[in-house]
Amino acid sequence: MNVLLVYAHPEQRSLTGALRDFVVQRLDEAGHHVRVSDLYAMGWKATVDADDNLDHEPGARFDPSQDSKWAFANGRQPADIAQEQEKLLWADALIMQFPLWWFSMPAILKGWVDRVYAYGFAYGVGEHSDVRWGNRYGEGAMAGKRAMLIVTTGGWASHYSPRGINGPIDDLLFPIQHGILFYPGFDVLPPYLVHRTSRVDQARFEMIRDELGQRLDDLWRTTPIAYRRQNAGDYDIPALTLRPELVPGQAGLWVHVVDCDG
Ligand code: FAD
Repeated sequence: MNVLLVYAHPEQRSLTGALRDFVVQRLDEAGHHVRVSDLYAMGWKATVDADDNLDHEPGARFDPSQDSKWAFANGRQPADIAQEQEKLLWADALIMQFPLWWFSMPAILKGWVDRVYAYGFAYGVGEHSDVRWGNRYGEGAMAGKRAMLIVTTGGWASHYSPRGINGPIDDLLFPIQHGILFYPGFDVLPPYLVHRTSRVDQARFEMIRDELGQRLDDLWRTTPIAYRRQNAGDYDIPALTLRPELVPGQAGLWVHVVDCDG
């Protein structure tokens, strides 16, 4: 299988860097083909601007969506964007690996998403009409591929528990797992999390490697998070609200998971 690892940490000798090396080695030993996009090492340009459409006329109004649509449809994207899209199409699985910074991904990784997820590639795909709102949330260019996050946090596991002060980790990662990964069609596996990183010593590092190694061995077997598919009948269209008879009276991020009420 082909695995794309998108890695965002500025220091190769970090814990995240050591785990990246482990991931590559483990997948390699299992016979998978691995490509790594090391965003800091690549000097990844993180901001969307008019240079992302090679046909953009100087001085013309820049429309991030429409310029993206034109550039993607006409082969007028910069090479760095096109190369990352090619890697995504090549991959059977995507792993995103990063430290949690301000309850989200580092800006350089968000900038990878902003630029690589072009109009016509990751969004604006499929029929858009009164009866259908495109191929997304379970359908799209990434359908049939798997995705998983590997995230380190300074905070403790309890800080991210259902009643923890930081908010439940499932909620914090929802915009990434549901909004960025499930949206273009990935099957999203539960994340692998390392909490309280300041307390990682050699013994704990070896435990983490063992656990993570098992997750990698199970990459093709693990049951994905059962996010509800947009076009499978659970949502009223075009409002795209969950049908009232499903988890009646309830709201919140968790209602978008099938059988969330047990
Ligand atoms: P490192 O700092 O590199 O290492 C952590 C520990 O692992 C160290 O003790 C080190 O000795 C040990 N270690 C490293 N490599 C090895 C190895 N090869 N073998 C054995 N041990 C090793 N945390 C939150 O919880 N929520 C936030 O919102 C948040 N926001 C942040 C925002 C910013 C801008 C920054 C800088 C930090 C933030 N943090 C936050 C903390 C951050 O998540 C952690 O610092 C980060 O996840 C640690 O990962 P690292 O790879 O940088 O670890």
